[in-house]
Amino acid sequence: MNPFIELGIRHDIVNAISELGFETPTPIQEQSIPVLLTGSNDFVGLAQTGTGKTAAFGLPLLELLDFEENHPQALILCPTRELCLQITNDLKNYAKNMPNVHVVAVYGGASISDQLRQIRRGVQIVVATPGRMLDIINRDAIDFSNVRFVVLDEADEMLNMGFQEDIDSILSTTPDDKKTWLFSATMPAEVRRIAKKYMTDPHELTMGTKNTGNANIEHEYYVIRARDKYAAFKRIVDFNPEIFGIVFCRTKIETQEIAEALIKDGYNADSLHGDLSQQQRDKVMKRYRERSLQLLIATDVAARGIDVNDVTHVINYSLPDELENYTHRSGRTARAGKTGVSISLINSKELGKIRQIERVIGKKFIKAEIPTGFDVVEKQLFGLVHKVHNVEVNEQQIEQYIPRIMDEFAELSKEDIIKRFASLEFNRFLDYYKNAPDLNVQFDDSRKSFDGKPFDGERGGDRGDRFPRDGGKSDYTRLFINLGSVDDFSRGEMLGFICNNTKITGRNVGKIDVKGVYSFFEVQNADVDQVVNGFKGVDFKGRQVRIELAGEGESKSRNGGGGERRERSGGGFRGGDRREGGNRERSGGGGGFRDFSGKRREDRGERKKRF
Ligand code: AMP
Repeated sequence: MNPFIELGIRHDIVNAISELGFETPTPIQEQSIPVLLTGSNDFVGLAQTGTGKTAAFGLPLLELLDFEENHPQALILCPTRELCLQITNDLKNYAKNMPNVHVVAVYGGASISDQLRQIRRGVQIVVATPGRMLDIINRDAIDFSNVRFVVLDEADEMLNMGFQEDIDSILSTTPDDKKTWLFSATMPAEVRRIAKKYMTDPHELTMGTKNTGNANIEHEYYVIRARDKYAAFKRIVDFNPEIFGIVFCRTKIETQEIAEALIKDGYNADSLHGDLSQQQRDKVMKRYRERSLQLLIATDVAARGIDVNDVTHVINYSLPDELENYTHRSGRTARAGKTGVSISLINSKELGKIRQIERVIGKKFIKAEIPTGFDVVEKQLFGLVHKVHNVEVNEQQIEQYIPRIMDEFAELSKEDIIKRFASLEFNRFLDYYKNAPDLNVQFDDSRKSFDGKPFDGERGGDRGDRFPRDGGKSDYTRLFINLGSVDDFSRGEMLGFICNNTKITGRNVGKIDVKGVYSFFEVQNADVDQVVNGFKGVDFKGRQVRIELAGEGESKSRNGGGGERRERSGGGFRGGDRREGGNRERSGGGGGFRDFSGKRREDRGERKKRF
């Protein structure tokens, strides 16, 4: 018999979840479903994300509610819009063979009138983020007097995000005799307090040891100098050509800058942070979910509730300020029984934090070594060989070309042909990594490289030196634009603005320095005319946009504000940890992403509609 039937779930639902690939219950489902199905207990479940907890409370709810009645009977509160949509979607999937089940997602950043309309039409399950829920309650637009079950999902996150008061107000509109089910990844004192406040003698369930991270996650740390961080990070990515990862940064700025640097270096990456509009965030998430994006660079807040399966690596580019967040971050990988790696890039002073995290997750980290250039080249070479071996040949289409191809290779032996195919990609990596130094900290005194020469590829100076500056013979021209941070431009937005108006690709734009009322940016010499022409007649909020060669712009602005000389040396990347090769074309590493800039431009185009 299907084990979900044995747990007491009806056939309609079991058939639906079987289609989702749920064959056996996860441990939390196995233990909580029988308890929750009684409908007579308050409940506290200490469970990480990715353990199957949505079904653990969702399936019992579908069993317990009366779907012949069209009024709210269950309220699920969760911290983020993403999680809200995820839960709603999951519930609809579980209930797809059941008649008259209505679930509404209530969250901010979307049209409230649509949500109100759905509520008016009649719903039994409301899945909501606290802010928008309270808004709707304050409009007297919903009646919770018949609510029988309240689920507080990711309770610790909701409290972290400051929703305590909202939750209090919302729950005060529900009946006293409802049952409350609380799920949380961690159990800090605040969660304990709300459990105590809202529940009577709850049934408690802890999955695994308290606070223990997912056993399928391997935790690794790399000790590197701050200034080598970006190069080290790229090596790790290059060493894992099939990586599908989430990279966590501490701040929005860091997130944006790492993403921009990666894009410039030819990687398939984009950023997710709170400065993006909801629409932009949705777009990034959609691309990540569809795997047309390989690396998602995110802040903790933006990444909350992301539920994407098959994430191979979580990379802590910076460790989280709140160590408890490490569990949330690493829990984005190794979902639904898969394995995953959580990598932390640290400097030697942060070792103490690693030890603290080890205590929190109850698991030891492995100290890993940044792969050498040679390791990367070898890995990429065999990745390529493997791909060639497994490529699907379209016999029909290729057939017509075979005689000409054979002709071309007639002189070459099989070995020669293989060597040449392999060299196509191999040379690219070999060139980039041939002088690569060891980036692991313990080799501080003996900066080894393949041939002992200094390596320029990954350590090309600070951001100001990203582009060749060989005695003034640079390929780039610096331009002045009369818009800056007072017009709400970040560097990323300026890049979008430039690309959008001039139709040059973002990869051909060099350093951007956003000042107060003006900015400087570099474009390839060959693109100068296109840029100047592109901005002709363009106005920004009624102001004529003005572009000038930087010399002119600088002298003008010095008259205006002064001190602008400093912008050359002062524009470095925060912490100086961004090092990149002058050799940007070759540094693409992961390979195959060259068509990316076009897509990226589209994104920026969207983002810039407000101009
Ligand atoms: P959750 O913790 O609810 O976010 O679930 C994590 C992932 O596991 C989701 O992608 C679910 O679809 C999946 N999942 C949940 N329960 C099962 C199950 N019993 N068998 C297989 N996959 C599951």
